[in-house]
Amino acid sequence: MTYMIKQKACRMMGMALPRTDQMQLDQFYEKLEQFAQREIGYPVAFDFDYSALIPFLSFSLNNAGDPFMPMTYLLNSHDFEREVVSFYAQLAKAPEDQWWGYVTNGSTEGNLYGLYLARELLPNGIVYFSQDSHYSVGKNLHFLNMRHIMIRSQPNGEMDYDDLRETLRIRRDAPPIIFANVGTTMKEARDDIGLIRSILDDLAIEDRYIHCDAALSGGYAAFLDPPPAWNFEDGADSIAISGHKFLGSPIPCGIVLARRGHVDRIGHSVAYIGSVDTTISGSRNGFTPLLLWYAIRTLGLEGMKQRTQHSLETAAYAVSSLQEIGVEAWRNPQAFTVVFPQPSPAVREKWQLASANGFSHLICMPHVQRQQIDELIADIQASSGADP
Ligand SMILES: *Cc1c(COP(=O)(O)O)cnc(C)c1O
Repeated sequence: MTYMIKQKACRMMGMALPRTDQMQLDQFYEKLEQFAQREIGYPVAFDFDYSALIPFLSFSLNNAGDPFMPMTYLLNSHDFEREVVSFYAQLAKAPEDQWWGYVTNGSTEGNLYGLYLARELLPNGIVYFSQDSHYSVGKNLHFLNMRHIMIRSQPNGEMDYDDLRETLRIRRDAPPIIFANVGTTMKEARDDIGLIRSILDDLAIEDRYIHCDAALSGGYAAFLDPPPAWNFEDGADSIAISGHKFLGSPIPCGIVLARRGHVDRIGHSVAYIGSVDTTISGSRNGFTPLLLWYAIRTLGLEGMKQRTQHSLETAAYAVSSLQEIGVEAWRNPQAFTVVFPQPSPAVREKWQLASANGFSHLICMPHVQRQQIDELIADIQASSGADP
């Protein structure tokens, strides 16, 4: 991507940017270029080029309201937004014409939306989520003031289904809302929605809701073989997926999908925008749907499969290379995330490795190459005093 700020003198409303401010921007750009080289610890892909969309930054795009309804403000990208959510509805096997969705600011919003729907449908419900859930879940439950119970996790990060079953059994008076993780943050463990559904069936619990936090794995779950149980056919009522993670985007974004009937219960018509207020934000980003659309159209299903394959191969390579130097690395089946005992602070900082409870992870998103893994391994060896 060309560095547009450098090419053009910075101007805004006819005024030039002061020289020292220009220097601040230039220095920031150079730092970002360096940081991007060594980013293997967070689940965001960097291998994108959206320069073709730069001209659209000249407009105040705004997608306020429901993307499936007409809107009085015409500088919106609802057409593109609908194509994006339709694409993901297909990947997530949503029931034909019986789903709804929109482009969010990310999965924290998508998860908030799913939990909000669940609360409107089951006001007395109790939310069950595992210990390994993303930190934003607690915040969302606090916003919504929902009752909740934390379920134990298995060592691999997956929900402990025995604990879920036992906990559900003694709380039969309140309808359960299951918050499942498809790709936990630290270990990329995937809660099995099919299994969760059969536990609810066994207990003859009919009033229930399953939300799938597929922030991480939702972008590629459909391309795994066999795919995890994560979609609407498996039993999900709503699903959140992050756009900036697997596809990659300069602006955080995501997709939320839900069964149509659930959403119809909460929409309110708003005369001011000439649309229906079914989303969480009022003004909504009109640029991110263009980014997602552009990525989907250029990559296609084939490109996404290739990216998935590349990441799986890099992750397998990282596990075996770490094990070769005596580091006890492991990963969940078909995961991009590699977990290992945390290396020295210098190594963690250099490679931006997220760490918790003595463990670090690296995430082989599509931009991560073997060469970076090799460099990380050399750094770990050097810092532990072993022979390089
Ligand atoms: C990243 C992530 C989130 C939060 O998603 P954002 O798009 O960053 O808001 C939630 N849950 C899981 C499992 C995640 O990996």
